Formats: sequence, structure tokens, C-alpha cells
Amino acid sequence: MRRLLVAMAATALTLGVTGVPAQAAPAPGGPGLGDTYFPDYGNSGYDVGHYDIRLRYTPSTDKLTGTTTILATATQDLSRFNLDFVLDVSSIYVNNRPATFAREGDHELVVTPARTIADGGAMTVVVQYSGVPSTKVAAGFTAWTRTPDGALAIGEPEIAWWWFPSNDHPTDKATFDVSVSVPTGVEAISNGTMPRPPVQETLGYTRWSWRSLKPQATYLTFLTVGQYDITQDTTANGQTVYNAYSQLLSPEWRDGAQASVERTAEITDWESTLFGPWPFEARGGVVMPPGTVSFALETQTRPNFGASFFRRGANTSVVVHENAHQWFGDSVSVADWQHIWLNEGFASYAEWLWSEKNDEGTAQEIFDYLYATYPDDASIWTTAPADPGVAELFGDAVYDRGAMTLHQLRVAVGDDAFFEILRTWTAEHRYGNGTTAEFTALAEKISGQDLAALFQAWLYTPAKPVLASAAGKAKKATPATPKSWAEISQTHALLHEH
Ligand SMILES: [Zn+2]
Repeated sequence: MRRLLVAMAATALTLGVTGVPAQAAPAPGGPGLGDTYFPDYGNSGYDVGHYDIRLRYTPSTDKLTGTTTILATATQDLSRFNLDFVLDVSSIYVNNRPATFAREGDHELVVTPARTIADGGAMTVVVQYSGVPSTKVAAGFTAWTRTPDGALAIGEPEIAWWWFPSNDHPTDKATFDVSVSVPTGVEAISNGTMPRPPVQETLGYTRWSWRSLKPQATYLTFLTVGQYDITQDTTANGQTVYNAYSQLLSPEWRDGAQASVERTAEITDWESTLFGPWPFEARGGVVMPPGTVSFALETQTRPNFGASFFRRGANTSVVVHENAHQWFGDSVSVADWQHIWLNEGFASYAEWLWSEKNDEGTAQEIFDYLYATYPDDASIWTTAPADPGVAELFGDAVYDRGAMTLHQLRVAVGDDAFFEILRTWTAEHRYGNGTTAEFTALAEKISGQDLAALFQAWLYTPAKPVLASAAGKAKKATPATPKSWAEISQTHALLHEH
């Protein structure tokens, strides 16, 4: 849904040169959106409004077949356009007529419709396909994970390519219907709510249907298939809470998982008091089988958690983290992957706030501990959070220094202004995108302070920032380890694994 931005840019361009809009000949859309780190992720020339993904999946063979229908709007006079996808395509229809298609690179599908599409025109793209996703390698790896009893489509930034054709960049969000037929007795879980209960089909298959009514990024759309125990309830405001636990969890891990994930409504209610209203129509969580995906991901409305987060019992930090992402990452998504600290720094800082609330160490104590204990040559100091590079996209600078940056902002502007900044950010960019420059400008506007030096030191400089308060003081002894640190650091160690 980046139509407005693109349309405005196009107008500025054509009017700026001649003063009169040019009548452009239909041209191919581009194979990427120019993302700083992933220039060929997503495609230009159109904007998706809705995906209808209708699949059949058989765990024993990893065979996926189905149809995805994409409702989009052309953002230029379009002779051709790309989708991002790796499975085997058997046919594509565009606006009622068969289209031709060809593969380019490792994830580009080039589609040539029978008729060109006018700028602003509606596009209905129907893609029929099949394949064994676990055999497909792109970007050097396979993001689709087979499990002993099913499969997991969970990944960041890459995952959509392995199960539905898309415009795969967080700047093109859409609503989703995901419906998957699996052998009866197997569960198939995705985002949002269930518009209907699972329906028995012929031949021993049951169809599960899921619907996301709010704009959703492609990488936040998930599919979890396997043997799961499901709990279902509603929150005080009537929203569905839908949780799922792999039946492969040991009883001990299962207890830790339930003692964490069943607190989702309470935790998100608390987060709402800090970050603004819960942005979505449902809540919940999924705990994946042990020995499969080890990280957790903030899949929209319903995060997926690796089992090992709960190997030592309850871990509410990771529930706080992934649900904080529903505001910072899911509702407000990065405009470019370079700005990833806007996701991870904020979700990590939510853990510090949770620690503070629970008297397990204040945010200041966690800040002091990290500032004192990370070695001077650690990547947290040698990497600028605002431009970490692909190799450090999920590194300490993005998570811990990102959170430290927010803490320094809070100290500088005070609690009232700090939380007003966070709530204004989530309100102004709801269901959209944001950049680091937009965030720092908002912080200065709300606080009325010149924060350039703070952000320069903490976000843009690949060196350990000097604390103003420490100037002239003798170096203090290493601060005590905050009580919450064992859980937070274990959580981050697992989060960094992906
Ligand atoms: Zn995160």
C-alpha cells in the first residue's frame, strides 16, 4: 500500500521537468524496490491490496499445491511486472486472460500480461503452482522448515518466496486470506482470526481458514502445520486469543511455554498503556516443535516462539518482545531494512520496561550494566545501529544498543515526553512504514529539544558513545547484574540465531 507515495513521486518527477504530465508508454515494472540492503526484494509498478492464498499441503511428502489470487493496482502504465516466488508455476491469469511468465535470478518471476494495464488500473493476478518447498534454495538458503510432523513458514526477511507469490517488501502491505487443506487431524495455523471453523474436505483432508483484516507485511504472514494443542479464549475487549503448542514439547517445556504464552492478553494490555491501542483484531502465540526453528518471530497478531525459549521454565521476556513488535515492526514497519533498529531496539526496550515493572532491575540498571560490561571492541560499539549492514542486521548493536539509544532518549526528554513520542509514532505511522530520520525528527518535535548530538553518537557513529554524566567522574565499579538479565540475555542469544 505505497500507492500514495509512489504517485506523488511520479507527479513531482514529470511536472518538475516539463510542467505538463508526460504520456508515458507502457513500461515494465522493476524487479526490486531499491532497498538499501536487499535491492531486488519487492517489485515496482504495482501495489497489492489483498492476497487470497489457497493451498493443499501434505506433511509426509512436503508437497504444496495451490492458487494465490493477488488483487493489486498498477502504479504506472504497465507492460510487464515481477513477482517474488520460487515454487513451480503452472499458469498465471492477469485480468481474465492467460499471461506468459519466465523465471529470472533466484526468486524473480517475470509476468507479461496479454494486455497492458493502465496506471491506476485494477489487476487480478491468479497464480497456480506446486512444489516441494524444502528443496528450493534462494538467497543461498531454504527458509521453509520441515518438522517431524509438518512444516514452518517462518522467516525474516525471506519466507514468502517459498509459499506464495508476492511483492515481497514491507512497504507493500496487504490484507490476507490464508486457507490451507491438510490431512485431517493435522493443524494448520496462520495470522488473524478464523472466518469459519476447519471444514472436512473429501479424501481425508481438512481445510483451515485464516483472515488478516489489517495491512500485513509479507514476511509477517506465516504458516505453521503440524500436531498442535490449541487453546482459544477472548480478551476483556472481545478479541480472540488463539494459542497453539506443539505436541512434540516435553511436559516440562510445555509448562514453561504455557506459563508464558497464556499471559499474552495481560502483557499486551500492559503494552497498550505504553505504546497505544493494540493495533490488530486478534492475539495469541504459537510454540514450535523442539529442534526446528530456534528463534521467535513477531508474525502479525500471533508470534511464533522457538521451543527452547522455555527450556528453563517460563520466559515472559520473549512474549513481551514479540508482542511489542506488533506496534514496532508490524503496525509500523521499516521503510527500508536498514532501519531494523526501529523494530529490534524498541522490542528489546520493552523487555527492560517489563523488568522495571516487575522490580527485576530498572531500565537504568540494565543500561549501566550493558554499558560497563560489553568489551570496547565488541560489535555493539563498532556497528552503527542506524546502518548495521546485512551481516549485523540482527546483531547486538541493533538490539541492545538500539534499546540503549531509546533509554538515552528517555533520560534526555523525561518519561512524559518519551512515552508521548512512542505513542505518537505508533499512531502517525499505524499500518504504514517509518524511517530513522522520521523517528528522530518526531522526538525533537515533541520534546522541543535539539537531540542531534545524542542520535549522532548513539545511532550513527560506529564507536562507543561517551556519557555526558560520566565526564570528569572516576570510573565506577561494574554495576550489579540486574535480576532480569539472565532471561533477557538468554532471549537475545536465541533471537540472534536467525
Ligand atoms: Zn525482535
